Amino acid sequence: MVIVKRKTLSFSERLYLPEIVRGLSITFRKMFAKRVTRQYPEERLETTEVTRGQPRLVVNEDDSIACVSCGLCEAACPAYAITIDGQETDRFIEREPERFDIDMLRCILCGFCEEACPKDAIYMSDELELADYSRAALIYDIEKLKRPKSALEQRIGYVNKINQRWQTPSSTS
Ligand code: SF4
Ligand code: SF4
Repeated sequence: MVIVKRKTLSFSERLYLPEIVRGLSITFRKMFAKRVTRQYPEERLETTEVTRGQPRLVVNEDDSIACVSCGLCEAACPAYAITIDGQETDRFIEREPERFDIDMLRCILCGFCEEACPKDAIYMSDELELADYSRAALIYDIEKLKRPKSALEQRIGYVNKINQRWQTPSSTS
């Protein structure tokens, strides 16, 4: 038979006092240590031209929407997040969207819609925050998606710059 000799605990050890003091000392040390995590929402994520936030539709200077409802972005979207219904318009372009919805809960911010668009009508904005009280509210309709061209200028400039990679000297002359 093996007899296990147990250490006799002091009064403070029986009350777990050393562990409590050690735990509190770690807590207080960490409270005043340099923070390594972002203190959101007070500290927002910095955005740049490379930021691929939620897609937005370009509104021209004359208040017309740049989209001609061709449906290429809808076809390119791997998440099936875009739904477009076109309609005729009196303007010089043939069509414009009557309905343009993006289900932001499906959107994976891949940027394929931006790449597919032949009319420079949809760009990835620097808007990253997404919160609401219902799923329905996160299906953004055309009014929620519209942005003046000036608001997307930084991204438009960046996309134009990277697209220059594909231009041959003869295509630029
Ligand atoms: S960013 Fe990607 S997932 Fe989102 S709407 Fe555009 S193509 Fe679809
Ligand atoms: S690809 Fe461009 S022009 Fe065509 S439907 Fe989409 S946003 Fe509109």
